[in-house]
Amino acid sequence: MNTANQPLFTCVRCGQCCRWHGYVQISEEEIEHIAEFTGMDIAEFYEEMIMPGDGEGVSLSEKEDGSCPFYVDSPPGCRIYECRPAQCRTYPIKWNNPEKPCPGIRRQNIEHPTLNFEYSKLKFRIFKERWHLAGKE
Ligand code: SF4
Ligand code: SF4
Repeated sequence: MNTANQPLFTCVRCGQCCRWHGYVQISEEEIEHIAEFTGMDIAEFYEEMIMPGDGEGVSLSEKEDGSCPFYVDSPPGCRIYECRPAQCRTYPIKWNNPEKPCPGIRRQNIEHPTLNFEYSKLKFRIFKERWHLAGKE
């Protein structure tokens, strides 16, 4: 079967990546941006949405079941999708959950050289968005 024209990754919105215990590292800039997007003040955001990270830095907090506080069940998805942290944007291209791999990525492409190119494009897009957010253009 010719898979050349199929996308390397298509999110099927299963929500799996947002519903397990883990650390979603988040920067100060991202916190400010998401707080503004959600209409929360910074102090409230730190109080309700942030917990210590795995090592240095901080992480998004989690609900009792381990899911992200920004994940909603119906319709399933991320409440802050447009400004989700870089760690979320690079999933599953840069990293994946080995126990529950993302069903949206084509397994045969994990070692595919084009995947690295796709990841480079994704990084460049994130860089441009951050540059824009920082008021550089
Ligand atoms: S696990 Fe993959 S397919 Fe499911 S919501 Fe996350 S990115 Fe999308
Ligand atoms: S911020 Fe959005 S994409 Fe990231 S883990 Fe939370 S719900 Fe998922």
